[in-house]
Amino acid sequence: MVKIERSGEVIPKITEVYFGDDCEIREAELPSLCPCCGHNLEKRGVDLVCTNQDCVGKLKVKLRLMNSREALEIVGLGEETVEILVDKGFISTLGDIFSLKFHSKELIELDGMGEKSVSDLLSNIESAAKKDLPSVITSLCIKDVGPKIAKLIAQKLHPQGIMGLILVPEEDLLSIDGVGPVISKNILSFIHSTEECKLLYIYTYNGVGQINTCKPIVCGALNGKTFVVTGTLSKERKLIEQDIVEAGGKVSSSCSSKTSYLVCGDNPGSSKVASAEKHSISMIDEQLLYEMINNVHII
Ligand SMILES: [Zn+2]
Repeated sequence: MVKIERSGEVIPKITEVYFGDDCEIREAELPSLCPCCGHNLEKRGVDLVCTNQDCVGKLKVKLRLMNSREALEIVGLGEETVEILVDKGFISTLGDIFSLKFHSKELIELDGMGEKSVSDLLSNIESAAKKDLPSVITSLCIKDVGPKIAKLIAQKLHPQGIMGLILVPEEDLLSIDGVGPVISKNILSFIHSTEECKLLYIYTYNGVGQINTCKPIVCGALNGKTFVVTGTLSKERKLIEQDIVEAGGKVSSSCSSKTSYLVCGDNPGSSKVASAEKHSISMIDEQLLYEMINNVHII
């Protein structure tokens, strides 16, 4: 029998191990009520989810995600400030951060806030309009849509900005490499929820995620291409593969009809070369690979 505790907020950590026959073995009891709002919890897959749409605990977690480095990253809207603003009723939905400007006098009166910090916070909220589209999509807090998926979706939406999300057909979402039926369903359920979808209108009203204001998406030169690397190269293979991925390419361990290029160093693997020849895959050297990588273009 072991004793565990939550570590790093999430990961269970074993703190003690009990031996012997005198251990009383009981089945672990899952909590049935949300510790934040007292509503029922529901088991969805591996998650225990609070069924209350307006749960304050869920709101605070979403606000944390919305303000993370990969999302809006609003300086001055840290965890402590969020706690105060939610508890005092200034924020009850994600979109409410854009209404804080109407309450500046009341905000200045709050503990720990002053004229300068409120004015800085409001101007930082306004700067969210400069964030690029992937960051804005990440900030919507759609389940399973993290920064990587957000970037792929942004490339699809780019000409329309954030409101394009409302119009995007399911088949277009499913055509994105990395978006399967589960993620697509989560996106559609966000769009079809009047409450959640309101955030897109609030963003648009405040100039967030608009194509004329947000930063262009830098798109890797290797997007959509799959590489296999073989032989001895000027640096560790792992590092070369990392460069390929960062430039938008994919790496595979063996050649198939889906492989675009075989990158050959000295003494390339004979089976990989044979397989590349069989599938008519272009073989390139390291120098040509980096010429392709450096050809970064902006869409
Ligand atoms: Zn709750």
